[in-house]
Amino acid sequence: MLPAFAPLGEEEVHLTEASGRYLSRKVRARFDSPPFDNSAMDGYAVRASDVALAGPDHAVELPVRGESRAGAPLAGPLEPGAACRIFTGAPMPADADAVVIQEDTERIGDRVQIREASPKSKHVRAQGSDVSRGALLLRPGDRLWPGEIGLLASQNIDRVRVYRRPEVALLSTGDELRALGEDLGPGAIVNSNVYVLTEMLRALGVVAVTLPAAPDSLPAIEAALRKALESDVVITMGGVSVGAYDFVHEAFVNVGIEPGFWKVRIKPGKPLAFAQFEGKPVIGIPGNPISAMVTFEILVAPCLRKMLGDPRPHPQPVLARLRDSYRRRPGRVEIARATASREGDEIVVALHDRQGSGSLPSFVGINALVILPSDKAELAAGEQVEALLWGPGLMSDRTIFDVID
Ligand code: AMP
Ligand code: MG
Repeated sequence: MLPAFAPLGEEEVHLTEASGRYLSRKVRARFDSPPFDNSAMDGYAVRASDVALAGPDHAVELPVRGESRAGAPLAGPLEPGAACRIFTGAPMPADADAVVIQEDTERIGDRVQIREASPKSKHVRAQGSDVSRGALLLRPGDRLWPGEIGLLASQNIDRVRVYRRPEVALLSTGDELRALGEDLGPGAIVNSNVYVLTEMLRALGVVAVTLPAAPDSLPAIEAALRKALESDVVITMGGVSVGAYDFVHEAFVNVGIEPGFWKVRIKPGKPLAFAQFEGKPVIGIPGNPISAMVTFEILVAPCLRKMLGDPRPHPQPVLARLRDSYRRRPGRVEIARATASREGDEIVVALHDRQGSGSLPSFVGINALVILPSDKAELAAGEQVEALLWGPGLMSDRTIFDVID
């Protein structure tokens, strides 16, 4: 499916709206950072040559001429043979080339005794030492997290060009579906998938457009599909299997959506369908709540990440060990719900004992999806597997701190 997805156009957003977005252009430094030589410490700015002979036993005494503090530099240059009181972040006075830290000085009225030599550049953060003007800071595809935002802000870059967020239409199908809070008559169920999928879409950073659920009728699904095709991507849910009331395939064809493939050798989620309308991706995911979540996470989310501008959109598994042995029917890759925890140097995954595709309680507390290879019927306790960390992520009873009771 991936080739059908590409980043959309760009847009410019304010930096305060840019968190989580993917850059579409290179960003270069507008100016040197730090923008001026400044002191790394509280102390006295001097000429290194004036204090070259200072030491703990032979103080060099200098007159103090003025002060430079962050935001309020010394007006003129430093006189020869004098010191300037200086504080962290304050601009270095012209002609001063070193800082003596406060701890190595003694102030006596308007004079200061320097008790340590300070070679040239000591405790001085030189202009451009962190970032030099014109340097490449960020590349297309870089995602903006707080650190990147800080770098851009420090460069006074208030607007950035990012890839447009895809609009994804979510169309549920099924006569039985009711919106949250509606009366459930006989045979009705809440359209729980739409709430799950809307959250998953939001978490990715796309714009979710939730359409009213379509009943199991060909004309209704066709009409809803035409509406859904106004978005950049269409995801249908349910009605994509082989039952007498599964109309999604037929509706695709009637609307002019070209079938791509149908059925994937994974469990859960086998009846997934992929199609395109004039190049626009249309994905039919199964209605079973677990199948819907798992196929979205494993197969749809990477495509949407690519469209968002992520150059590395594939799921990133970690290696883990199975806590218990597991027997299964081989033939399909199985994506099993599990809880992962850290034990010593390893991640251990305990598979949930219910792996059916309809059980919503089996997703509660899950923080990993374990990928079990299609060819294996038996997995031993302690065997190494790949796992995708999910939801709240890994739990551990360890901490980086020494706990003192
Ligand atoms: P389907 O894929 O339409 O054959 O549906 C498979 C199962 O999932 C059936 O039990 C449906 O009632 C259920 N189902 C389908 N769509 C949803 C949905 N949006 N929310 C919750 N359950 C659903
Ligand atoms: Mg259905």
